[in-house]
Amino acid sequence: MECASSDVNDLSNVHLHNRQRTDDNTRLAMLDLDFLDCPICVEPFTIPIFQCDNGHLACSSCCPKLSYKCPSCALPIGHNRCRAMESVLESILIPCSNAKLGCTKNVSYGKESTHEKECIFSLCFCPIPNCNHRGLFKDLYSHFDVHRNIGRDDSHFAFGKYMEIRFGLSETPFMVMKEYKEGLLFVVQCHSKAQETGLYVTVSCISIAPSSLEVGNFSCHISTTVAKRTILYTSMKVKNTQKLSFKIPQEDFMFIPSYILGGYRQFELEVCVSKLNH
Ligand SMILES: [Zn+2]
Ligand SMILES: [Zn+2]
Ligand SMILES: [Zn+2]
Ligand SMILES: [Zn+2]
Repeated sequence: MECASSDVNDLSNVHLHNRQRTDDNTRLAMLDLDFLDCPICVEPFTIPIFQCDNGHLACSSCCPKLSYKCPSCALPIGHNRCRAMESVLESILIPCSNAKLGCTKNVSYGKESTHEKECIFSLCFCPIPNCNHRGLFKDLYSHFDVHRNIGRDDSHFAFGKYMEIRFGLSETPFMVMKEYKEGLLFVVQCHSKAQETGLYVTVSCISIAPSSLEVGNFSCHISTTVAKRTILYTSMKVKNTQKLSFKIPQEDFMFIPSYILGGYRQFELEVCVSKLNH
């Protein structure tokens, strides 16, 4: 009987130890983040992580490139997972890189960029050329007003109402529009390149990408009539962007073929941006 009761005591001691560790399990620890990168491609590890029989590690995209042969010891790699390393990876949370700007989110290692695309503390860049201002998207909306007195005919607009924008083919091919109630900034751009077959028209919202509940979602309708031909374009999802790009877009654009523009030096766009309900 005594023996049994001492067993019980031992068990409760073990239990106590576990409890103490559990209470303590969020203590800060120092960790060299390099150990969380694949030693072969040096990219952050993602699950699954593989090991050879000698315990050398490789990420899942490296294994096929190595023909499933460990580069350190030539044993097969890519069949045995390293569950211990996977658990370590899952337990690591690092502060958002915008922590200094006020973000309190901790993110899993390797997934920082996913959060940063939606982080409301990410910096947005003023769309006006040669202005180096960057700030939180809300601050950017008020900053933009400093540009309103420099002779650009940047316009206020209202959601759901068409506004007319005149583009000259030789002028700066974009226009910033500020929504008059909420102050959100939208940019209408005409992209073209030499010997291109036409103009690419895009509408984007200066905001954190891809979409934040703070900002909302928008649709846009664009129409243009040149030489009695009308082109209509509807996008049910206006792209959010932190920084304006002047590259030819790969998607989400209205295309105006050169043969329609012909010799016209300028053309008009009717643009309507509407707020979508969630
Ligand atoms: Zn790798
Ligand atoms: Zn090995
Ligand atoms: Zn953040
Ligand atoms: Zn600016």
